[in-house]
Amino acid sequence: MSEKILIADDSPTIVEMLKFFLEKEGYVTVVAKDGIEAIEQAYRELPDLMLLDVLMPKMNGYQVCRLLKGDENISYIPVIMLTSQDQPKDKFWGLQTGADEYIIKDFESDELFNSIIRVLEKSKKQREKKPIEAPQTTIDNILYRLNGLLDKKLFQTTILNELNSIARTQDNCEDVIKEILKLLNRVVNYHLGAVLIEQNEIMNMMLYENQPVSEIFITESITNITKEGITKAGFSIRKDNLKITTVKSTATRTKGNYPERAKSILTIPLRAHKSIIGILYLASSYENAFSAEIIELLDIITNEASIVINNAMFYDEFKLLAITDGLTKCYNHRHFQEILENEFQRAKRYKLTFSLLIGDIDNFKKINDTYGHQVGDVVLKGIGSLLKRVVRDIDVIARYGGEEFTVIMPETDAKGAAGTAERIRQAIGEYIFSGLPPKTYVTMSIGVGTYPDLKVADKFEFIEKIDKALYQAKREGKNRVCLAE
Ligand code: GH3
Ligand code: MG
Ligand code: MG
Repeated sequence: MSEKILIADDSPTIVEMLKFFLEKEGYVTVVAKDGIEAIEQAYRELPDLMLLDVLMPKMNGYQVCRLLKGDENISYIPVIMLTSQDQPKDKFWGLQTGADEYIIKDFESDELFNSIIRVLEKSKKQREKKPIEAPQTTIDNILYRLNGLLDKKLFQTTILNELNSIARTQDNCEDVIKEILKLLNRVVNYHLGAVLIEQNEIMNMMLYENQPVSEIFITESITNITKEGITKAGFSIRKDNLKITTVKSTATRTKGNYPERAKSILTIPLRAHKSIIGILYLASSYENAFSAEIIELLDIITNEASIVINNAMFYDEFKLLAITDGLTKCYNHRHFQEILENEFQRAKRYKLTFSLLIGDIDNFKKINDTYGHQVGDVVLKGIGSLLKRVVRDIDVIARYGGEEFTVIMPETDAKGAAGTAERIRQAIGEYIFSGLPPKTYVTMSIGVGTYPDLKVADKFEFIEKIDKALYQAKREGKNRVCLAE
């Protein structure tokens, strides 16, 4: 049976020419002279291929194409867009609306026929899905669906605009993710949402409790997200590298029974620059909460959201680089000064106690001279990670200078600070650094002081007193802790 081709063009000359050429080649043709007629004919005749003129009365070729491709009953019909001008914009729109090919009207060349043969061949399989009976359609029906399509488009555009605004107004990854999860609430009424990404070797899992759920719901979700992160994103997730942050929506929690289990779960990989940067996870206690239409919409949003999240991750990394010492990964001197100033002002205003210690490696020059600068670097790096293990999470560790480190200890009194300093001194003294010969140990002298025990007017005076204590420790024979006074 010969294939049926629908020609939709408002120019009678063009229609006649196309009809003539196509019928000569053995195709059956049907004709439409405007967009609406094209749609009616498409439904009535179920052609094997449509040639759509871009500029037509009533409804243009793009609109016709978008409408037909949006109806799964009829979306199998391949479309070739015809245009007289070779404008990149036309080509862009043509392909955006789902056209299979885009051809410039030029009957001198064989391009049109080649294109027809190619598209018919390519669409053979999908054309087998052709319904036996033509679906009923009326103008009203067409306009109704066109409106639906426009509504959907408008909705998508609005959501994408909001994403844009999140990207512009939020400058750290956690806030960006929280806002994106909130935004998804406008698309689907989920219970628990999460994003899992890797940042500075930490697996960051951010949970957003959109509607109250039970503890079991949360625990099971965490297990699921972890599994999905491993299988879908290839993450290596362990207890010691997983950081979970939970945010609840502001909706007030009333007493009652909260859903125990998720009945619908959806995981979408977040892709940026061709790689998977994380996963989005949504769970609902309702069955079939994620319809095909919702998934389609979420896919579109996730595509954009991935880029927004990825940029925020870069920005976080960039900000971290600016405040981190490259070798030891502790904070750098500048950032230390900033934190110390804040801590000082806070302590002063709220009458809080806090402590500071400055440690200096003993005879470090000798380590460099004996084992080389690179071994010296290994020792510095080792001390950085050792400090992170010995002090509390809220303490701030910085590389103060060459082989000097400092720790700000918020809400810590003199006794506590001296204890920490002593723990650090001992830990360093016992540590076996790779690169150093056996039984070669590194020691540190430490000065430590507490505010407001030390009567100082500003952070500079504070540092000065602690520095003095450090030098006292050196004078008294090194490898010891001295308290500032
Ligand atoms: P003291 O016990 O009195 O503190 O003596 P010291 O040798 O530790 O102190 P000194 O100030 O004489 O020497 C510090 C050395 O630290 C000199 C410098 O080359 C070295 N240094 C500073 N920054 C780095 C670094 O990034 N890597 C390495 N390997 N060495 C560094
Ligand atoms: Mg020094
Ligand atoms: Mg030293």
